[in-house]
Amino acid sequence: MLRVAKFGGSSVASAEQFKKVKEIVKMDPTRKFVVVSAVGKANKEDNKITDLLYLCYAHIKYNMNCEAIFKIVEEKFCSIATELNLQFDIKGELKKLKERLDSKNISEEYLVSRGEYLTALLMAEYLGYRFIDAKDFVFYNYDNTYDYVKSEKAFEELTKNGENFIIPGFYGSLPNGDIKLMTRGGGDVSGAIVASLANASVYENWTDVSGVLMADPRIVENPKSIEIINYNELRELSYMGASVLHEEAVFPVALKKIPIQIRNTNRPQDKGTIINNSEEGAIQNVITGIAGKKDFSIITIRKVHMSNEVGLIRKALSVFEDYNVSIEHIPSGVDSFSVVVETKAVKPFIYELMAKLKKVTSAGEVTLTSEIALIATVGMGMKNSKGFSGRLFSAVGKAGINIVVISQTSDEINIILGVHNSDYERTIRTIYYEFNAQ
Ligand code: ASP
Repeated sequence: MLRVAKFGGSSVASAEQFKKVKEIVKMDPTRKFVVVSAVGKANKEDNKITDLLYLCYAHIKYNMNCEAIFKIVEEKFCSIATELNLQFDIKGELKKLKERLDSKNISEEYLVSRGEYLTALLMAEYLGYRFIDAKDFVFYNYDNTYDYVKSEKAFEELTKNGENFIIPGFYGSLPNGDIKLMTRGGGDVSGAIVASLANASVYENWTDVSGVLMADPRIVENPKSIEIINYNELRELSYMGASVLHEEAVFPVALKKIPIQIRNTNRPQDKGTIINNSEEGAIQNVITGIAGKKDFSIITIRKVHMSNEVGLIRKALSVFEDYNVSIEHIPSGVDSFSVVVETKAVKPFIYELMAKLKKVTSAGEVTLTSEIALIATVGMGMKNSKGFSGRLFSAVGKAGINIVVISQTSDEINIILGVHNSDYERTIRTIYYEFNAQ
């Protein structure tokens, strides 16, 4: 049994949080690999080290003084080191970093990556784990793709003596050795990469919530937390806006069928959520979760006898491709089909695009409906549950909500409803309470 435990920014935000991490890690000797984010927010008013470092870089770029901001970074790191009595020369490291900043001989990626780098070095001493730098085994190609084969070889070499290791998240390196940052929240991806390289039995993602919730708690009061969810269901929910884990974190572990556990550093007694390859969750509940996003546009192309015309949809879609617009859904009827896109993706040229569509397809009519919200009801249990969609639509209908568009693929894992932006919150609540007694 081998566990990879990744701790997010709020889990390492102070000396007190470091202590909780140590307790959790020491509780189970199979937690042999620990991945950390940079010191995060200790409370609502606090700042993340990552944000402060980005801000420092923005200052030097415009020849502004960043003393005050860098000072906050120093204070945060130094207070943790002092309170925990650590010997690591954090002051010296920060001084070297400040000198590089002052000489402007530093890239943004290098500077920002120091957040996780220094956090991991402090944690290494505190846990008595060996530090290994992510730049020495998380390898990217110049086109930003991850080089698994090269990474695997380096990882094997670095860890062959089988100790306990600590690794900074959020970055890797390019073939020339330069630091490459991941997108924000990328520590989750690092944890998943390490879990996959180490062939872990479990990837634990320790954060500040007790698992994935069935719905957004800003919309539904006290939503239930999901005990068990399939990788694909989680992908659908994250794509539609549910934010617990970085969207990309599922791939490295799903490939090797390594389960992910979302756990709460502040409440380790809570079970959290298990994300795995099984359909167990679907057996327990018909729906697993609900998520959604506002501000979509629907462009409808109407042409009589369209269904008999070969190649018409391709012609229309090529117009979207020319404008580099990614398409969300394509619901279709007999004499019309619609293309659902994010409003912000088409706004600057929408009328030009519609005119081109009309020309290319010789359509009778091209119309636009905007201010649409998409709501995904996700659950693998839906396919075994007859009458499910009837129940869903009738609940939404009874609430007096007009459904503008519906989309469902034949794997029946997800039903997407398009409603007006103004009905967004009400629709989510209606669906949630239909399938969870109030
Ligand atoms: N520190 C980075 C961020 O704030 C990465 C992470 O926390 O996972 O986005």
